[in-house]
Amino acid sequence: MSEYKKPLPLITELSKVFYDGCKEEKLLYQQCKDCDEVVFFPKQLCSNCMGHNLEWKESKGKGKIHTFTVTYDSAPPEFAADCPYSLAIINLDEGFSMMSNIVECDLEKITCDMPVEVVFEPITPEITLPRFRPARG
Ligand SMILES: [Zn+2]
Repeated sequence: MSEYKKPLPLITELSKVFYDGCKEEKLLYQQCKDCDEVVFFPKQLCSNCMGHNLEWKESKGKGKIHTFTVTYDSAPPEFAADCPYSLAIINLDEGFSMMSNIVECDLEKITCDMPVEVVFEPITPEITLPRFRPARG
């Protein structure tokens, strides 16, 4: 783990649960116990019924790429050393979406609908980020 110079996620009381899960290699999301709405990124209230009855669940970390970009140059200065890199929106099987990087993959081979699975990358002692790689098996 070399010194991490990119922006770090904002840790709040709520997002801490998610990032603590990542440290344990668990991808957590919320589901409303009243209306079954799947909620991500972590919220205090259900985005469907505005109820408070949200429970944490663990995703299997599998999904498909909804859409993606590959940045070859002109990245923000903090990310320039990573070029080329891919940023994607992933639709998880449990019904939520998240933005992350596609890793362990030839960037030319990334396609929409490609099955992917989560991998966890510790970037600081406090923060581990979820990334996605092509699904295996
Ligand atoms: Zn609800």
